Amino acid sequence: MDTAPSPLVDRFGRVHTDLRVSLTDRCNLRCTYCMPAEGLNWLPRAEVLTDDEVVRLARIAVTRLGITALRLTGGEPLLRRGLPGLVGRLSPLGAEVSVTTNGIGLARIAGELKAAGLHRVNVSLDTLRPERYAEITRRDRIADVFAGLAAAQAAGLAPVKVNAVPVRGVNDDEIVELVEFAAEHGYRMRFIESMPLDAQGAWERDRMITADELLAVLTERWELVPVGRHGNAPAEEWRIAGTETVVGVIASVTRPFCGGCDRVRLTADGQLRNCLFATEESDLRALLRDGADDAAVERAWRNTIARKGPGHDISSADFVQPARPMSAIGG
Ligand code: SAM
Ligand code: SF4
Repeated sequence: MDTAPSPLVDRFGRVHTDLRVSLTDRCNLRCTYCMPAEGLNWLPRAEVLTDDEVVRLARIAVTRLGITALRLTGGEPLLRRGLPGLVGRLSPLGAEVSVTTNGIGLARIAGELKAAGLHRVNVSLDTLRPERYAEITRRDRIADVFAGLAAAQAAGLAPVKVNAVPVRGVNDDEIVELVEFAAEHGYRMRFIESMPLDAQGAWERDRMITADELLAVLTERWELVPVGRHGNAPAEEWRIAGTETVVGVIASVTRPFCGGCDRVRLTADGQLRNCLFATEESDLRALLRDGADDAAVERAWRNTIARKGPGHDISSADFVQPARPMSAIGG
């Protein structure tokens, strides 16, 4: 198709340009705020989209729907076999391609991913202390994450962002240290409010460190200059006065940014979700496997976005946690 893509707009006028693609629901860590120690019932392989299916949906998204950013996530996307090959097929589509990863195994393939056309990585790291890391993730792998971060930086996957979920009584005493660590290495630190999307349904509002609390800790240590938000990016950013260090806060719970949401999500088994908190999905895999043409897939996609609600209701008494946990949706 050589006509220009027509934007993916919902009934509130929000234009969707950012597609999050989950490449697997499996993970090699068991972060306590994400999944139980025993893991989850992983999707059978036959239900997971093949590389050809992922590439086809991404092509439809970019060329027909105006998607400009493809973020590969999971579960743990680096567990997807042949990831550099897949990135090599996605990057020529013309959208920015990035990966959100726990960083394990990144040291080995960062260069290959860069060569395949990957633009950026976000690496999750909630603590700098090995023992605490092993408690949070239930795996003793912090050295792999440090190595992965360094390799991503060396490969030029910049800016390397570090994501941490601060939880009260777990790692909230490391907020300043995490920022210092990131600044020292040239990474960009971002804190994410914990959300009721864990598989166990054990989220407790009181254990979430709110954006206000985070900022109070940071301003006690530094003078912060607001940088604001880049477009519809979920992170609000601050610069530490007199430095180039920027800190981001993603406050999905206490400062929801639903009004500017430009995201749509595809699960590893090919279900399209118009919101992280959606309770309905649209089965694109069935369409693909039933032989639908691109126009039919495009229609299904637009219908899903047309049904998108104004925002999530985490703070209302009527909030219903989606059946799929974060790791199976793709964070
Ligand atoms: N495994 C990869 C990783 O950890 O980066 C990608 C998937 S993970 C679901 C994506 C992001 O979601 C990570 O930064 C993780 O810390 C965050 N996350 C997981 N569970 C969360 C929760 N309940 N609330 C907020 N963020 C969460
Ligand atoms: Fe795995 Fe990421 Fe969930 Fe941790 S947050 S268990 S690394 S999917």
